[in-house]
Amino acid sequence: TSYGFRRVGAGDKQSLVNDVFHKVANRYDLMNDLMSGGLHRLWKDAMVAWLNPPKRAGWKVLDVAGGTGDVAFRIIEASHRHAHATVLDINGSMLEVGRDRAEKKNLSEYTDFVEANAEALPFEDDTFDAYTIAFGIRNVPRIDVALSEAFRVLKRGGRFLCLEFSEVDMPLLDKAYEAWSFNAIPKIGKAVTGDGEPYSYLVESIRKFPNQQNFASMITRAGFDRVTYRNYSGGIAALHSGWKL
Ligand code: SAM
Repeated sequence: TSYGFRRVGAGDKQSLVNDVFHKVANRYDLMNDLMSGGLHRLWKDAMVAWLNPPKRAGWKVLDVAGGTGDVAFRIIEASHRHAHATVLDINGSMLEVGRDRAEKKNLSEYTDFVEANAEALPFEDDTFDAYTIAFGIRNVPRIDVALSEAFRVLKRGGRFLCLEFSEVDMPLLDKAYEAWSFNAIPKIGKAVTGDGEPYSYLVESIRKFPNQQNFASMITRAGFDRVTYRNYSGGIAALHSGWKL
């Protein structure tokens, strides 16, 4: 079976996604570097720069689908170790790797790890100063539900930032990118983790995700104001921003 090409309902989709990330958790960070040619690091740094976390204690960010903590650690460092990050993920294997990394980086006191679903956040309304999600929302079965939850848990004046693969807007790059993702990525996945299938799923999920404009409209519909986005690497990735005002 090929995950990507089967029609699946919301429940099914989530269990396929969970399978993928249980399988790759230990190799996840290496895979990210190989598959994006290291670009994910630049995109994440750009995300954190746009967020510009204050260098004062008491500021709280929720990093959803935070996996191995990559974005959260960058935010804490950018705040000169003042911010507090809650890393939330549906997958315990990914969080386990994240906890180990936090310890090695001496960042445990600035981070919490919470196993939960982006569609049902276990927090009260108006809790966080910022909500970030990187390469996570396209895995969530009901994106509109996840966006409403983001809006709910943010404080007034809070910031929403979402980094995600998007629609390439350069004629030559889009062909090269397609070739890379449909051929190379599953092969690299297979070479490193012994299984190419999860990566076929990932590539297919990128293709299905709404483009920049449509995703911006969804964020606005969830209640956010001043919704804008920036493209990176010709639209391979896009960063959407919104405010709860
Ligand atoms: N944000 C990290 C990064 O950029 O390196 C990890 C991104 S990884 C591609 C996607 C993550 O989304 C996985 O860790 C997966 O477990 C998580 N995920 C998938 N569905 C989820 C859901 N419904 N709620 C929360 N996390 C979810």
